[in-house]
Amino acid sequence: MDYFFKGGTKVVVLHTENLKKYYEEKGNQIKALDGINLSINQGEFAAIVGTSGSGKSTLLHMLGGLDRPTSGKVMVEDKDLFSLKNEALTIFRRRKIGFVFQAFNLVPVLNVYENIVLPIELDGNQVDEEFVNRVLHTLGLEEKRTSMPSHLSGGQQQRVAIARALVTKPSIVLADEPTGNLDSKTSQDVLSLLKVTGQKFNQTIVMITHNEGIAQMADRIIRIEDGKIVKGGDLNA
Ligand code: ADP
Repeated sequence: MDYFFKGGTKVVVLHTENLKKYYEEKGNQIKALDGINLSINQGEFAAIVGTSGSGKSTLLHMLGGLDRPTSGKVMVEDKDLFSLKNEALTIFRRRKIGFVFQAFNLVPVLNVYENIVLPIELDGNQVDEEFVNRVLHTLGLEEKRTSMPSHLSGGQQQRVAIARALVTKPSIVLADEPTGNLDSKTSQDVLSLLKVTGQKFNQTIVMITHNEGIAQMADRIIRIEDGKIVKGGDLNA
């Protein structure tokens, strides 16, 4: 089956099939993910919500190929992530998936620009300066280009982390509680920028949040409970 539907109006970029992740702990089996079927279109902005322990982080880790499932599939574009050996998976992940975490994870000795282009340079690629400038402009970071991370506010640091995730032009951006360390006003601002930037560059964004207000800004809310999707898994739900 061809999962990457080109030519039509919608392109599925991310797809899971009966995805399961079971952990064994002290003789007990924990079903962190218990049969997740999910399809995300190119350009879509989806929020994953659910109570603590419902499986959100486990799901995001699987979608990004950071951990292997017990069974089931994750397709990114037309690639079955877990058919890849570790090294190939690492390369694929670096090229196709951008991550934004709650902790901004900026390199303290590099300035804003250097932090943003680091993943491109690590991959041995030429920096598309015009694209970097457009992303910096959209995120309101032009004047902070040569600033060091320690001289930035939390919201500005998270915008740099978003820029860093976007400039490699990934197929999907995965964000794990991206506003978890920010106050509510800054969270709204950063999320609006993430949304606008995503739309402008036709990026697909999948974000975990426990904040209902933030989740409402997404195109689709996927609710998970006990490792199962209870709402929003289907494209047309
Ligand atoms: P959430 O992100 O929604 O808070 P998680 O995905 O972190 O939930 O966890 C889902 C379930 O899986 C929880 O019961 C958690 O305790 C369990 N879990 C997560 N990681 C591990 C692990 N490495 N070993 C054992 N259990 C785990």
